Amino acid sequence: MADGNILAPFQPKNHDHAKCVAEAIAIAEIRCARDGRSFTPLRRRVLELVWSSHGPVGAYGLLDALRAERRGAAPPTIYRALDFLMGNGLIHRIESLNAYVGCGSPDNHPEQHHGGQFLICGDCGSVAELDDPAIARTISTRAKALGFHVESQTIEVTGLCPRCAGTAESGARHAP
Ligand SMILES: [Zn+2]
Ligand SMILES: [Zn+2]
Ligand SMILES: [Zn+2]
Repeated sequence: MADGNILAPFQPKNHDHAKCVAEAIAIAEIRCARDGRSFTPLRRRVLELVWSSHGPVGAYGLLDALRAERRGAAPPTIYRALDFLMGNGLIHRIESLNAYVGCGSPDNHPEQHHGGQFLICGDCGSVAELDDPAIARTISTRAKALGFHVESQTIEVTGLCPRCAGTAESGARHAP
């Protein structure tokens, strides 16, 4: 069961990232078609840009990238597209960084909105996504004991990814 809770692991440096992007787009197409929502070229492009890496991207970084391609792209253009992608469970907002990251596994979520636990590398910005019900249950139980009603649970944990910590099997940054 352990691995079932890992929606997005840390990726090795030399993985086939084009495949990650292609999969994210394919899932978005299927999901939008299923839900009768229009996956416009703009929404698709913004999703691709969010998926430019496994790290969070800020709205203004997205805007700069989009402006290079589309004249007249303005902040509302980006925010509307981001709202659409979030509303369909395709990306997450990392509040602590005021930035967005692609959902590691929108397929695994029958419901469109899910919280989850994000491990964020403070060095390279890579993000891993977990969805461990045991963590969520513990928080709910503790909150309930305090009479607190939980509305959403998104946990952002900062640290170092295996590559930056030098514990990755390949491509360790810190040579002995
Ligand atoms: Zn990738
Ligand atoms: Zn997710
Ligand atoms: Zn890192």
